[in-house]
Amino acid sequence: MNEQTDRFGRHIDYMRISVTDRCNLRCVYCMPKEQQQFLPKTMLLTTQQWEMICKAAIEMGIYKIRITGGEPLLREDIVALVERIANIKGIKRVVMTTNGVLLAQKANRLQKAGLQGVNISLDTLDRMQYKILTKRDALADVQKSIAVCQEIGMPVKINCVPVGGLEKQDYLQVAMLAKQYPVAVRFIEMMPIGAGAKYQPIQNEIIQKQLTEIYGLWTQMHTEEIGSPAVYWENENFLGKIGFISPRSHSFCHACNRIRITAEGKLKLCLHHPADGDLKILLENGADTTQIKQYFAQKIWQKPKDGHTTDEKRPMWRIGG
Ligand code: SAM
Ligand code: SF4
Repeated sequence: MNEQTDRFGRHIDYMRISVTDRCNLRCVYCMPKEQQQFLPKTMLLTTQQWEMICKAAIEMGIYKIRITGGEPLLREDIVALVERIANIKGIKRVVMTTNGVLLAQKANRLQKAGLQGVNISLDTLDRMQYKILTKRDALADVQKSIAVCQEIGMPVKINCVPVGGLEKQDYLQVAMLAKQYPVAVRFIEMMPIGAGAKYQPIQNEIIQKQLTEIYGLWTQMHTEEIGSPAVYWENENFLGKIGFISPRSHSFCHACNRIRITAEGKLKLCLHHPADGDLKILLENGADTTQIKQYFAQKIWQKPKDGHTTDEKRPMWRIGG
């Protein structure tokens, strides 16, 4: 197996694939408009195309693939897609980021298909606040999904984005899930992408202080996840742990190990830079695995040094986070 390195010496071993741009929530900082213009279904990559892309990526050193969206569970073939990817020789981790609304009904099948973990996005545990934040009354469905994952032994991380200026969002309460369950609750600073640019990030240092005032002493853990930007803390009264992902206050570009592919097959080498390639066109022109690998290698070498300014005009739901 190859190891892919960019011109700044960063090893690229993680790929995030956004398998649809559609979503069943309307989060205020991501997809605030009720009526959206989505890609025509014919533009979305097919299961077979995803399998080819993932195979090539894995053969050139990608070991972890995260399936995201839009909302990935809206894809009717999601279980089959997970299964195809999980069965590619050389893959070590297949995980998913989801809003969790449809997860309870699919978790078991996804696990059997080879899904090894889910990041569930959840910004509040208050039903009314959830409705304000997502425009849908679906908190109970997400809570059920978390419970089902616990029952079947599907590893869960909770991603919580504190929204500055939204007075009543009790994001600190979300930390309670890590008290109750052996899960990681990660606070992610709002990024100025799409509708997120309208909201102030709440610095993770502030949240950490608030958590210390409420729950007492936290001890920093050694991160077991190579290439993960999360910094984890533990507390003796918690079954799980608390993580902080701080793209605004602590840049992690120097250690970036990831590339992204959008639902229509655009290659993104950096979250903050516009797309740098088109895998759909390559596939439609008949490229085989060797040619896709060559394309990846050539593009990865050009990965931008950092994303300190955002030139990307796509909203987050068209990137996948
Ligand atoms: N629909 C799925 C979900 O919500 O988990 C997957 C796609 S969503 C775009 C992935 C993640 O991006 C979510 O955790 C969401 O909270 C986060 N996100 C969206 N806009 C953001 C922003 N402007 N800054 C930081 N995170 C953002
Ligand atoms: Fe949908 Fe996820 Fe964006 Fe919310 S954050 S609107 S769930 S894509």
